[in-house]
Amino acid sequence: MSECIFCKIANKEINSNLVYEDESVVAFRDLNPQAPQHILIVPKKHVANITELDDKNLAAHIFTEVVPKIAAEVGVDKSGFRLVINTGEEGGQTVNHLHVHLIGGRKMTWPPG
Ligand code: AMP
Repeated sequence: MSECIFCKIANKEINSNLVYEDESVVAFRDLNPQAPQHILIVPKKHVANITELDDKNLAAHIFTEVVPKIAAEVGVDKSGFRLVINTGEEGGQTVNHLHVHLIGGRKMTWPPG
């Protein structure tokens, strides 16, 4: 059995505040939100990080269907939002299962920390 926390969330072995689910993706609220809306979009199959994502259909599904749908559902599609994919140690990735942060509901700043 996988020890990956996001696999466990995808498999419903541990609870999350789920906002979206389909056959290939789950999305749930981040435990430590950095903005009023902070949702993690996660492929159900284990992919360690964006450099390991070799499924073009899954990539297209996430970015052309899931992101716009969730952004509209949580009400940030018009005001704007930020997508973040932390990758590897210097990228600040702490969970080694690909996830897209969808962050919104406040004005973002740049550069990121
Ligand atoms: P990253 O640092 O990009 O790998 O992001 C990992 C994110 O997962 C962090 O923002 C954490 O707050 C979040 N996180 C970790 N465990 C959980 C969990 N069980 N449920 C929801 N979010 C989590």
